[in-house]
Amino acid sequence: MFNRSRRNLAYWFTLSMGSILVLFAGTIYYLRVEDKSEALDRLLYEKTKVIAASIQYELHLGKPQVDLSNVLLLGNSSQPLDAELVYVRWYDAQGQLQRFFGTPPPEQLTTSAGFLTLRLSDPWREHDLIRQVTLPVQEGNILIGHLQVAVPLTDTQTDLRQFQLMLTLSLPITLLLIEFTGWRLGGIAMQPIRQAYAQLQRFTADASHELRSPLSAILTNAQVGQLLATDYPKIHPSLENIVESTKSMHVLVNNLLLLARHQGRLAPESLKLLNLNELLQNLTTRYTTEAASQSIKLISHLPDQAIELRADPDLLRQAVENLLSNACKYTPAGGTVWLRLESNSFGAIIQVIDTGIGIPAADLPYIFDRFYRVDTERTQESGGFGLGLAIVQQIVQAHDGRIHVMSTEGQGTTFQIELPL
Ligand code: ADP
Repeated sequence: MFNRSRRNLAYWFTLSMGSILVLFAGTIYYLRVEDKSEALDRLLYEKTKVIAASIQYELHLGKPQVDLSNVLLLGNSSQPLDAELVYVRWYDAQGQLQRFFGTPPPEQLTTSAGFLTLRLSDPWREHDLIRQVTLPVQEGNILIGHLQVAVPLTDTQTDLRQFQLMLTLSLPITLLLIEFTGWRLGGIAMQPIRQAYAQLQRFTADASHELRSPLSAILTNAQVGQLLATDYPKIHPSLENIVESTKSMHVLVNNLLLLARHQGRLAPESLKLLNLNELLQNLTTRYTTEAASQSIKLISHLPDQAIELRADPDLLRQAVENLLSNACKYTPAGGTVWLRLESNSFGAIIQVIDTGIGIPAADLPYIFDRFYRVDTERTQESGGFGLGLAIVQQIVQAHDGRIHVMSTEGQGTTFQIELPL
């Protein structure tokens, strides 16, 4: 129980911290992308401005003339080749292509001024994504043309990819660290709860144990009183009441003691090699009479081959007895109760099946809770405190087993215990 809570705490801690971390990593990545694109745009703009500065404009015979001879990559003179540039294009003021370097461009300017990220459709170039700027060039107030320059995004992409890889690699490591921390913190948080629970457990065990002697004394005295009071019929019902209530208290105290004492898995030294066939055969013999007295048929199906496992015989008997007793309690006269034993890949399977009143689907998830009773009206005649199934579940879990219930109201119930061999 505590380990499950600890695991849950660690899980939720990891999940919440992990989500924050992923969000944080995402934000950092986004900021890095922004930062890189801003730096690249600034560089691209600077380069374009330098190129634009070498464009010469003059009026020749009253006609405006643009001289590109000194322009980097577009001019005639030999210039140092800037390997960083994918293309340089010059469009006139009407958007008509005049000259270009690099990938063949469209004849007409198709993009408006500003920055743009494009995918290069040139199969010979290694860089795929490019960043392009279209800069309107003016002389005074006159627009003389458009300069279009592009640089590859390869370096930026490589840098971002490396950053992404670093984040992706560090994320699982950090998550593992968070999980470890969560597990440790869960352990620390569970400590006081564990102690308080152990104290409560000890108190219940001690109180139940201490209550047994006075209860036995009351019961014996009340029974003696019954024998001595044969001449006083008026006090008979009161004495009978005392006897019944004390017996019922005895059952409750014994159940509480059982629950308090057998928490968690059983110690290996308390386990003995047990023949399940024999145990169930004994119980069948015992309960056949009880069932017959209520006009219920008890049928047992035990395999010929003995099924043996290491278990605490008293506890296991108690678990099956509780199920059989419930089956007889909640099955009307004329019904049938089956006790079956078989083995499968998991281990031994014990089934107690009845054709009784069944359990409403809404109650099924709670029937193993302590003091849970389905609809007190239907169960008040049957006595009991709602501890029987809690005890069965605890015993089964102490043996590392599982218990399942299937029930249809008005048709019957099947309890199945699975125990590892
Ligand atoms: P109780 O001592 O009240 O029987 P249990 O823990 O044994 O307490 O059972 C819890 C509730 O589950 C009971 O109140 C009863 O209504 C329901 N229940 C248990 N076994 C059966 C069964 N075989 N058929 C119908 N109802 C059952």
